[in-house]
Amino acid sequence: MKKETHIYNLLKKFKIDQVDLGYAKYKLIVTKEVPENGVYGYTNPGSYVIFLHEDMDNGPARETLLHEITHALFELIGFTSDNEETKFEENNEDLTLKISRGYMLLINLNPKLMEILISSGEDDVK
Ligand SMILES: [Zn+2]
Repeated sequence: MKKETHIYNLLKKFKIDQVDLGYAKYKLIVTKEVPENGVYGYTNPGSYVIFLHEDMDNGPARETLLHEITHALFELIGFTSDNEETKFEENNEDLTLKISRGYMLLINLNPKLMEILISSGEDDVK
């Protein structure tokens, strides 16, 4: 039984089932059937879907959600390729500019999601 403050319960409570990236809304699906075997999260930039494994404690679930949102963010800022292993040549300043603007956009388009994502991880602290 997950606590009320588990990120999955907060997503349900505030009826958040997508991440708005401006050009697309990525559907958030919590499931035992994540497409890639053996992973806890998976983002499909082709079909705009983020999968999260149902069996995760609050801390890992939050980290995985932010990890997958970051994959979507990289699509948004143009770090995208059919080959996930493609390397991009960016210096620190260029990369910082792109990522910080991308996060500003994500935070502004998804204020409640971002608020609950950072707000209640404290019950994981021992
Ligand atoms: Zn990843």
